[in-house]
Amino acid sequence: MDGKEDLDKPSEALQCEAAAAYAALQRFHQLALAECAADRDGDAPLPVTLEWSPLTTFDQFVSDAFARCRAAASERGPIRERHVYCYHCRSVCCEHAKPNSHSCVFAGYADTGRPKWMEFCNFLLAVDDDRVDLLFAEPPAVLARVIGRRTLITEQLESYGRKSITYRILGQVVAGYITMRGLCFALTIQVVEGKRHRLAVQVIMSEEACETIADAADGSSLNRIHNAIATTREQIRKIDNQWQAAQPNRKRKKELTNQIFSVLNHLAASLERKGRQHRRRSRHAEERSSQNRPVHKARDDIRTARVQDFFRDEIKRSIVVIGKNRRSHVFTEAGRHITSLHIPTDKIESRCRRKRYCPMATADITRFREVVAAT
Ligand SMILES: [Zn+2]
Repeated sequence: MDGKEDLDKPSEALQCEAAAAYAALQRFHQLALAECAADRDGDAPLPVTLEWSPLTTFDQFVSDAFARCRAAASERGPIRERHVYCYHCRSVCCEHAKPNSHSCVFAGYADTGRPKWMEFCNFLLAVDDDRVDLLFAEPPAVLARVIGRRTLITEQLESYGRKSITYRILGQVVAGYITMRGLCFALTIQVVEGKRHRLAVQVIMSEEACETIADAADGSSLNRIHNAIATTREQIRKIDNQWQAAQPNRKRKKELTNQIFSVLNHLAASLERKGRQHRRRSRHAEERSSQNRPVHKARDDIRTARVQDFFRDEIKRSIVVIGKNRRSHVFTEAGRHITSLHIPTDKIESRCRRKRYCPMATADITRFREVVAAT
């Protein structure tokens, strides 16, 4: 026994600090992986190497450490709740992996494997669904549509995952619009085959919207949507067991694929029914009052619209007012209502950039309001 061992041993105070730092790093690692949805039970811990020096600022440390955890997380697996795998970045943590607006749905992969997101009504138009107008009827209908794998990979190149089994979408249902907290939501529900041929149901919707649906009161239309999705999960779980067993058998897989699509068709019909029930109830309200007619709606919207919602259309020589619930109203300069329609936000922005839509002066808006009120 020599004294060297004791000299090398950190003091108790140091050990105490080290233990606190070690525990804090462990918690950071766990939390960061949980935020990247890579903290599944039963998996081996994900190795992440962190760097720290006295010269590193706190902000640098946090962003670097989180980036490293995120990179490690994307190695773990391509299936992350509420996200679509991006073949371009080979990640579920990149900016392309989720919709940038709550009214967008997954519209397939671009040639280089980047997920494409599209406004729900525009996507319906793109797949030649002739019911789009019903979305903007009074009262609006909830529409749902089953989309097969072929439509989603039309552009995707083989070198960017077209035939990959990493995140193989067998089919999906897109549905909308569902009104929550005054906003219109669209959702995408996919049946995905992943590694080891496991099937998963992916609901692509913001976390906030998923929680609102999950917490909705029993019997409410949101609650019925939640139950329809839960039923779908259960049905796909049953097919999953057979799917794995059927692997080499093409004929059996074809049968099971048909079953999957029958589950998706059932889900689509069920989501639309929730909308119809709402429709039936609202019709009474409509009969009681003519306030729901488009021209009355337009007048209401004009009363309450903000100054920045009024535009002069320099090409059509008309006045466009952006109203509630994504409806825009078109009037003549003399205040006659021409039509009400949906103009997507990006279209409005591009028309403003091209100076086709010009903001109206406050005095002109006041005069216009008076003219409309008098008609
Ligand atoms: Zn990406």
